[in-house]
Amino acid sequence: MTRPHIVVVGSTMIDMITYAERVPDAGETLIGERFVQGFGGKGANQAVLAARLGAAVTMATCVGIDALGDATVENLRREGIDVDHVTRTDQASSGVAPIWVERDGTNRIICVPGANHEMTQQQARTAVLATPQVDGVVGQLEVPQAVTSAGFRAAKERGAFTVLNPAPAGALDPGLVEVTDWLVPNEAELVELARSLGVSADGTPEHLAVAIARTTGTRVVVTLGSRGAAVCEDGEASVHIAAPTVEAVDTTGAGDAFVGAFAYGLAEGRSATEASRLGCACASASVTRHGTQTSYPTPEEVASLIQ
Ligand code: ADP
Repeated sequence: MTRPHIVVVGSTMIDMITYAERVPDAGETLIGERFVQGFGGKGANQAVLAARLGAAVTMATCVGIDALGDATVENLRREGIDVDHVTRTDQASSGVAPIWVERDGTNRIICVPGANHEMTQQQARTAVLATPQVDGVVGQLEVPQAVTSAGFRAAKERGAFTVLNPAPAGALDPGLVEVTDWLVPNEAELVELARSLGVSADGTPEHLAVAIARTTGTRVVVTLGSRGAAVCEDGEASVHIAAPTVEAVDTTGAGDAFVGAFAYGLAEGRSATEASRLGCACASASVTRHGTQTSYPTPEEVASLIQ
């Protein structure tokens, strides 16, 4: 098998997590207990997982001209990801997600996409066309859909497959669906997709996945948390993939781990069910540890997962 080549057109964010006994009331100042900063953004998470598995990954994204942007680019570089198509803007800050977590675990998140929304269609197109080899292109909904569509259209010109993680949940532009080969939502995103497409949202996720595949003409893989995933390739039936049984301590970023590994698997030439099995193996390993990218299997650990 040759080395898989993947382009991710998507977001980078810095998670800024403050832990406190409780959140302040309006006008009140509190002393917090702990602060943690972490690299995130669905695009970056998926790129990092694919790179840890051994893919050659190009990241097309946009960060601000600020210290968080510097740190984001440095983190991608450290993961071995090609950053030639990361642009910088003075029109917005780097994407951030300030998160407040109370003692009982309740969290409040304000996601500020900032520079992620400054990506351009030309940038996405150039990233896909200029990268010497591209097997697959991966996108999410944290950058403008027109930008993802431009990257996916370029992928089709090159004969590469496209994987869309429709997250955060929302309605899809018909133009984006047209150039999407694989839709990979979680259960909540699947229900939102069904609603926005006018597909009856009754029934099991497996039924919904089949109905959405039939309506959109795409193939659908729905992730099912501890139950694993269901793969629907033909709008007729779905195949269930069980997740390994593990002790989950933090499921943040599990869906992104699945998508990164799934894309890697397809790019390596695996069947969709085998790629989903790899997705479940990586995602389920990630939920046994805290954090997002910090919870993902390392290059040293992935050997036992790539079988
Ligand atoms: P998201 O993180 O987007 O909400 P899911 O909850 O469906 O997505 O999780 C994605 C994948 O992570 C699953 O397909 C599964 O492989 C793994 N996973 C999530 N939660 C668990 C769990 N409690 N036990 C084992 N695997 C899990």
